Amino acid sequence: MKTKIILLIPLLALAGCTKNETPDIVVSSFVSYDAVKNIAGDKLTYKNVVPWGSELHGFEPTPKDVVAINEAKLFVYTTPELDTWVDALVSNENSFDMSAHYTRHEEPVDTDGHDGHDHDHDHAGLHFFTNPEYYLEVFNALLPRISAIDPANSAYFSENHDNYVSKMETTITDLKTFLSDKTNPTLYFAGHNALGDFAHEFGFEIHALTESYKPDVDFLSPTVVAFIEEIKTNNVHHLFVEELVEPRMANLIKTELLKDNYTIEILELHGYHNITSAQAKENVTYAELFSTNVTNIKKALSN
Ligand SMILES: [Zn+2]
Repeated sequence: MKTKIILLIPLLALAGCTKNETPDIVVSSFVSYDAVKNIAGDKLTYKNVVPWGSELHGFEPTPKDVVAINEAKLFVYTTPELDTWVDALVSNENSFDMSAHYTRHEEPVDTDGHDGHDHDHDHAGLHFFTNPEYYLEVFNALLPRISAIDPANSAYFSENHDNYVSKMETTITDLKTFLSDKTNPTLYFAGHNALGDFAHEFGFEIHALTESYKPDVDFLSPTVVAFIEEIKTNNVHHLFVEELVEPRMANLIKTELLKDNYTIEILELHGYHNITSAQAKENVTYAELFSTNVTNIKKALSN
């Protein structure tokens, strides 16, 4: 019995060692994973330390994650504002801060007379990646960093990069063309609105129920009642919700409107914070989520 146990330990240790081999690239969000994956393809190994389906805000890496991050040939993270633990825990000198690789466009002046948008503005800066134009700038900057760790495959990486860029650009053009003849296009949104930078870039408004929004609230506050009135007044029939959250408030609004025989359809506007593990298995990309967002936007603004 004793000899068996002794024999098992080195075998398990060996298996563990092989399984936990440090990936070439470690990332800490869906967007950084997507950028790496769509350049590196199958030539490098990479790992996202943020579990699929989990909440991105407030994520903290485990000690094991920190070891993998610091031993990787490249570490890609979103922004120190979101990955607040990076300064204290990351010593990897080959780190790529996505937010340092795009140029912020001038914020257009808010012309509809709203104030109190400070929260949205802060939130938008944190979520620069929801603007596909910013995302592409970052994606371009990442290509030489990935090629540098495996120069022999640089032609392969360039080809992957170019294919992905052209997919994104097709959708960007599609949305711009669609919006070009719309007057004051506005989406109604019940959730935490992370997509301000996206809306600014393409010239539409997101009217969000942010102030009063709490995922666990299921009563109609005066703000929600006012929001419902606005939906009716403006003849809105599509209400957007964020990804990965049970849309309790949106459902409540839908039910309330139904009492007056007023129907709304709930649509998702994905903010790219994370994807589910089922989506990860299906290799769902940012480009695909963006394309679905555009399909939903067209649906909402076509009537
Ligand atoms: Zn967010």
